[in-house]
Amino acid sequence: DHLINQIAAGEVVERPANALKELLENSLDAGAGEIAVELGGGGIRLMRVCDNGAGIAAAELPLALSRHATSKIRSLDDLERVGSLGFRGEGLASIAAVSRLTLTSRRASDAHAAQIRAEDGCISKVTAAAHPVGTTVEIAELFFNTPARRKFLKSEATEYAHCAAAAERLSLAYPEVAFALRHNGKNIFRHPPQSHAQRIAAVAGEDFAAAALAVDETAGDMHLHGMIAKPTFAKGKSDNQFLFVNRRFVRDKVMSHAVKQAYRDVLHQQFSPAYVLFLTLPPEMVDVNVHPTKTEVRFRDSQAVHQLIFHSLNKALAQTRA
Ligand code: ADP
Ligand code: MG
Repeated sequence: DHLINQIAAGEVVERPANALKELLENSLDAGAGEIAVELGGGGIRLMRVCDNGAGIAAAELPLALSRHATSKIRSLDDLERVGSLGFRGEGLASIAAVSRLTLTSRRASDAHAAQIRAEDGCISKVTAAAHPVGTTVEIAELFFNTPARRKFLKSEATEYAHCAAAAERLSLAYPEVAFALRHNGKNIFRHPPQSHAQRIAAVAGEDFAAAALAVDETAGDMHLHGMIAKPTFAKGKSDNQFLFVNRRFVRDKVMSHAVKQAYRDVLHQQFSPAYVLFLTLPPEMVDVNVHPTKTEVRFRDSQAVHQLIFHSLNKALAQTRA
C-alpha cells in the first residue's frame, strides 16, 4: 500500500512545481482572497502555502490526506461539469506520500485551529494548533523517501523557475486574489487584488501590456478576452504565451493555431506573438479530465473554439492596419 501510494504519487507530483500547483488550486477552490507562498531550495527543501480560505474541519483533516477523498464532486454527473480546479482527491495524498507534510487549518466557526502531519505515508493524530482562519500546508524535503525521483530533479534554479511559472499562471487567472511569492527569504512578487489588465501588466510586463491589443468577444455561450501583442512588439517570447480555459492554464493546438493563423492572415507575419487569452465556456463543452500534470484539454466543438479565437483576433489586429 505504501509503495502503491508512492508510485501513484509519481503520477501527480513529478517535481516541486506540480506540488505547488496542487496546493495553489486547493487554496483557490477554498475561496481564498490571499495566498502566500514561501519556497526554499527551489521548492525541494521547503514549500509553504498559506491561504485565508474556508479552511478544513478538524475531523476532516485525515480525510484531506487520504487518496481519492475529495469534498468537491460527489457523482460522475458532477465530473461532467466540474467547477473546481481540483476534483480527483489525490493532490494532498500524493504529496504526503513523498514528503514531510504539515496541514494546519481553521474555519471561521472553529474556536481554534487543528493540525495533522504526514511523514513517509504515516498520518499523525489531529492536534490543536494556532492559525488564523484559512489553511497552511507545509512540505519539507520533497521526495526524501523516493531517492530515484529526487535524482531526476534539475538544479534548484530550474525547479524554482518551474514553481514561479506555476504561481504566475494561476495569479494571471485569478487577479482578484492577492498572491505573494518568496524564495530563499527573498520577495519575488506581491500582487494585490487587481483588475485583469493590471495583473497582466504585473506578470507579463508593462512593456507587453502597453504594446497589446485588447480582445473581447462573445459567441453564443463562449467568451474570449485578454490581450495580444501588437506586431510592433515582435519579441515573440514564447514564455509570454498564456492561454486559459475556464481559468485553467492550457497548451492547446487548436487555440495556438488560431492565434498564428490570425497573425498570418491579417498581418502576413509568421511569428508567434505574446498573448494572454482567457476562454470561458460551459464546463460540459470542455474535458479537463485528461491528466493531472498535463495542460491539455479537449473541446467538444474545437472548430467553434478555433473560429471564435480567429475572428476576435482578426478584429483586434485589423485595428492596427486602420
Ligand atoms: P481535490 O482538490 O481533488 O479535492 P486534494 O487532495 O487536493 O483533492 O484535497 C483534498 C481535500 O482537502 C479537498 O477536497 C478539500 O476538501 C480539502 N483541502 C485541501 N486543501 C485545502 C485548502 N487550502 N483549503 C480548504 N480545504 C482544502
Ligand atoms: Mg486539489
